[in-house]
Amino acid sequence: MTDTTVQSNAAQASPETVMQEVVAWRRHLHQHPELSFHEHETARFVQEQLQKLPNLTLSRPTETSVLAVLKGTAGPGRTVLLRADMDALPIEEETGLEFSSQNPGVMHACGHDGHTAMLLGAAKLLSAHPEQLHGEVRFIFQHAEEFFPGGAQQLVDAGIMDGVDVVVGEHLMSPVPTGVVAIQGGPLLAASDGFELTVQGKGGHGASPHQTIDPVIVAAHIVVALQNVVSRQLDPMDTAVVTVATIHGGNAKNVIPDTVTLGGTVRSFDENVRQELPKKIEQIIKGVCDTFGATYTLKYQMGYRATVNDHDVARELQEMAREVLPEVQVVQGKPQMGSEDFSAYMTKAPGTFIAIGAGGPGAAPHHHPKFTVDERALEHGLKLYVGAAKKLTQPAK
Ligand code: MN
Repeated sequence: MTDTTVQSNAAQASPETVMQEVVAWRRHLHQHPELSFHEHETARFVQEQLQKLPNLTLSRPTETSVLAVLKGTAGPGRTVLLRADMDALPIEEETGLEFSSQNPGVMHACGHDGHTAMLLGAAKLLSAHPEQLHGEVRFIFQHAEEFFPGGAQQLVDAGIMDGVDVVVGEHLMSPVPTGVVAIQGGPLLAASDGFELTVQGKGGHGASPHQTIDPVIVAAHIVVALQNVVSRQLDPMDTAVVTVATIHGGNAKNVIPDTVTLGGTVRSFDENVRQELPKKIEQIIKGVCDTFGATYTLKYQMGYRATVNDHDVARELQEMAREVLPEVQVVQGKPQMGSEDFSAYMTKAPGTFIAIGAGGPGAAPHHHPKFTVDERALEHGLKLYVGAAKKLTQPAK
């Protein structure tokens, strides 16, 4: 009797049968998306699934995140944190999928539903066999990746990284073909900072510019002059983006306004470059305003740091990926100027963020109302989480 039960449990926890559950979980989560910092039902659902599994210690480090801890019984080893994010976006879904969002104006348009489902699957497979694990695995189901200040930093502050030796995150990528997985050491995703600027002039009649300080002209000069930061002030071997994305001012064709407001995003990889950029940007703003007699208010917001993968961890994961996914092409990805709050974990321990192909050319981009993921890629992510846990919990060489 006992033997039969054990066997059927073991059979239940094979990657093939778990995959059916992973797809079902992903579709359930896709139907019930929640915005950043509001993942109450999502966290409840995740906790409910984890409570069915053996050998896990569960906690809620923040209101809408879930942590599961699994101690290996094979001997001492490293502590590995596996991360999935759970939040959705303020987008009205237009995929036409039968499991489309049931929450108007909210959509899983970045694949976080898939990440959560894959990590639940990994928890199911790994928790059934602690005897196959050294060290400790922590599964973090993170809230609020999409909305600054981000859930990752809050979780770091709550202490979930204390004692962690290595951290691994995954992201499904719709532009990358299914069957391709990118793992590499070094810079992967940029730091994302931003600014809001108000140029204060002196309004007046559009026909009497000499009696005004025209903030429209000043703003126009600032937009052009800011292009100088990247093109002329930065080492060409460093990388950055300064984008002025909003500009607002004036209401009538014959009225020079008092103020113009501008907003933009600033991206970079190198932390020294990142710290220099606000000074260079403000110098230009100040110079232009002084030239034309305007004043300004600048709010500069430091956002997520750059995501820079650890070379040794990346190498271990590349080896593992080739073993557990022989049918998949493991490649070196290209760094991108997008950003991720996964970088917060890597201020505490080395890690690697893996990009998993889940679409291909022609697929809708991330954060698009028609975004979706190829569900065949969920199996790749599942096997990579499991493989990462088994390999990286081994005692360090
Ligand atoms: Mn994302």
